[in-house]
Amino acid sequence: MRSESSIKTFIRIRPPATNAIFKEEEGVLNCCDKLYRFNHVFSPDATDEEIFEHIGFELVENTLNGLNSTLFAYGQTGTGKTYTMTGNGSKEGLVQRSVALLIRKLKNSPRFDYFSLKINYLEIYNEAIRDLLAEKESKITIRELAKSGFYVEGLESAEISDEEGFAKELKRGLLKRSTKSTKMNE
Ligand code: ADP
Ligand code: MG
Repeated sequence: MRSESSIKTFIRIRPPATNAIFKEEEGVLNCCDKLYRFNHVFSPDATDEEIFEHIGFELVENTLNGLNSTLFAYGQTGTGKTYTMTGNGSKEGLVQRSVALLIRKLKNSPRFDYFSLKINYLEIYNEAIRDLLAEKESKITIRELAKSGFYVEGLESAEISDEEGFAKELKRGLLKRSTKSTKMNE
């Protein structure tokens, strides 16, 4: 089933406690005398599992129904984008949980006899694009085609067949990132 809106916005308030006033289910955040509306507000004590249940399930379902799906984390440095997306080394984030669900569904659903899953992982940092899965650094460029839209020329793909394979590639890419986790408030 298609969700009612093609774009949803969520906010996760990271610990330590904040002086913002919010109503989780109603998606209202009152901060600095202004009201902000989201599809959902996650409080500082929201678990990674809760975040996955609200965001990951629908994202995977939409993808399996043929929609291009994007999960985009936005925020100032140190606000928890990397933590929410990919966890903190010992804990899995939204990306691992969503891919695990995607693989489970692809393997177990009678809708799919066969699947091929490929991943890319790139970083744009200081206006330079780097392929995080490439063995050797090589020049890659963002291009646009009138028919099919944006793509990255020269970007390498890794074939994934299970969760372990994905974890391995993700770890390999994470280690090459210019900004790993930010040591704010630690
Ligand atoms: P960003 O990627 O937005 O720059 P990080 O994800 O690196 O920020 O988070 C900054 C620091 O805060 C990290 O040490 C991370 O472990 C910690 N952190 C972020 N969000 C949470 C959270 N919800 N619960 C506990 N620690 C968090
Ligand atoms: Mg980060």
